[in-house]
Amino acid sequence: MTTKAAERDHAQVDEAALAATLLELETRGVSAFRTVRAPALEVQRAAREIGDEELLQRVNLLLADVMMREGRVGEGGRAAHQTLAWSREHDSPYVLARAHRELSIFYRLVGDISDSLTHGVQALAHLPEDVPPKIRARHLMTLAVALDDGGSPADGDRRYREALRIAEELDDQDFVLLVLNNMAYSAYENGDEAAARALTDRMRGVSAATGRRLDANELDTVARVEMMGGRYDSVEVALAGVLDGRVLANEGDAAAECLLTLAEARRLAGRHAAAQEALDRAIRQCDANGLARLRARARQEQAALHAAAGDYRAAYEEHLLFHNDSSALHSAQRESRARAMQAVFEANEARRASEHFREMAHRDALTGLYNRRYVNERLPVLLGEAAVDRTPISVAIADLDHFKRINDTLSHATGDTVLQRVGALLQEAASGPVIAARMGGEEFLLIFPGMDGAEAARRCELLRLRIRTHGWQPVTGALPVTTSIGVTTAPDGRATVSALLSQADRNLYAAKRAGRDRVVTDLA
Ligand code: GH3
Ligand code: MG
Ligand code: MG
Repeated sequence: MTTKAAERDHAQVDEAALAATLLELETRGVSAFRTVRAPALEVQRAAREIGDEELLQRVNLLLADVMMREGRVGEGGRAAHQTLAWSREHDSPYVLARAHRELSIFYRLVGDISDSLTHGVQALAHLPEDVPPKIRARHLMTLAVALDDGGSPADGDRRYREALRIAEELDDQDFVLLVLNNMAYSAYENGDEAAARALTDRMRGVSAATGRRLDANELDTVARVEMMGGRYDSVEVALAGVLDGRVLANEGDAAAECLLTLAEARRLAGRHAAAQEALDRAIRQCDANGLARLRARARQEQAALHAAAGDYRAAYEEHLLFHNDSSALHSAQRESRARAMQAVFEANEARRASEHFREMAHRDALTGLYNRRYVNERLPVLLGEAAVDRTPISVAIADLDHFKRINDTLSHATGDTVLQRVGALLQEAASGPVIAARMGGEEFLLIFPGMDGAEAARRCELLRLRIRTHGWQPVTGALPVTTSIGVTTAPDGRATVSALLSQADRNLYAAKRAGRDRVVTDLA
C-alpha cells in the first residue's frame, strides 16, 4: 500500500469512528444532556482536522441542543438555523432533517407552536429512509410533541405509538419511558384519566422490569394522574423519593414542580397545614433558583389554599400578587422570546448577506450579466450533465462590431452605455435555461443547454436583429451598433469546454471576416 493510500484508509477509519461516536451522542438519553458537550467538542476537533464539514454541522446541532436545554435558547436556535442554511446548500438530507428537528424544539421553547409544527413535519419528511431506527424514533417523537401542542392530539398519538414501537423493538428502555411519559402527560392535560392511568401503569411496569428508576419528571406525571382520580395518598407515595432527596431531579425545575403537585394534592385532600408546608418548600426552591414561571403558579396555589381555608381576604390579596407576577412574567417571556427571535433573524440575515455576496462574485459590475468566473464554474457542469443525458448543448460568442470606433469618436462613457444596453438585450434573450454572460470587454457568451445548433442559431439571429434595430440614435447618433456571433454545438454533450469555446471563436471570426453583423454556425 502506498503512503497516500494508507493515509486515505486511515482517514476513512477515523471518519467512520467519528460518525459512530456522533450517532451515539445524538441518541443519548435526554436526562444525560450534561454529558454530551465534552465528547462533542472532541469530535469537533477531529472533524476539523480531517476537514469534514458534514460532521462539523452535526456537532453544531448537538451543541445547539445542549444550549437550549441549559436555557440558552436564542443561541441554540441561532446555531440550528445556521446549520439549516448549510444543509440546504450542500444536499445533506440527514443534516437538514436534524436541523429541522432542533428548530422544532427551539420554536416550542419560545412558544411558537405553529413554527414548531412546521419544522417538526420537515424533520420527519427529510429524514432519509436508511437512518438507524433510534434516530427515526426521536424525529417521530419531536413531531408528536409538536402535533400535541398544536391541538392535534390524535395525530400526535399516532407518532408517539410509532416511536414507542421502535424503542420497544430496540429494547431502549430509557427512550420507552420518555415516550410513555410524554404520552401520559398529554393524556393528563387532555383530561383523559383512563388513558393517562394506563400509561403511567406501563411506566411503572417498565421501571419494575428493568430496574431503571423513574426520574423526578416521570414521578410528577405519575402523581398528577393519581391526583386526577382523587388518590391523594398515592400522590404522597409517588413523590416521597423526590421529597427526601433519593430521586435526583433531572432538570432544573423538576423538584419544585413535584412540591407544587404535592401542595395541590394536599389542599384537595383538605390537609391545609401540610399543603402550606409543601408550598413553602416549593416557594423557597423557586426563589433560590430563580424559577419565575413556577413562582407565579405557586402564588396561584397560595390563593387557592387561602380560599380553601376560608380566608377570602388573604386569597384575594394573593391572587392580586399572582396576577402581578404573571403579567410581569409574560412580558419577560415576551422579551426573551423577542430576543431569541432576534438572534434567529440575524442568522437568517447573515445567510442572505452571504448569498448576496456570492451572487455578486458571479456578476459583472457594468452590465449585471454573469461574469467569466461564473461561466468557468457553470459550463463544465452543464456540459457534464449534457454528456450524461446525451442531450445537445450549444454555445455562442457575441462580439460587438467596430466597438473601438464608438469609444474613440464618442466617448468611453458612451461605450459603457452601449455595453449596458447590449447587456439588457442579452438578458432578455436569456430566457428559460439560456445563460448570458459578459466574458470581458465587448465580448459575450451565451449558453443554450438542451438546444441543438438550429435552435441556438435561430435565437442568435433574433438577438443580432434586436441589437441592430435597437433605438441607438440618442446614444450613438449616426453610428450603428451591430454584433457578430459564432455558434457551435455539442450534439450529444460530448465535448470539452475548451474545444467548444475554440470552435465558437473560430465561427465568430468567420463572421467578422465575412463582413460582420451576422451569425455563423458549424454548418456554414
Ligand atoms: P471588431 O469588429 O473587430 O470586434 O472591432 P472592435 O473595434 O470591436 O475591436 P476590438 O475587439 O479590438 O476592440 C474592443 C474595444 O473595446 C477595445 C477597448 O477599448 C474597448 N473596451 C473594452 N472594454 C471596455 C469597457 O468596459 N468599456 C468601454 N467603453 N470600452 C471597452
Ligand atoms: Mg469587437
Ligand atoms: Mg473584441
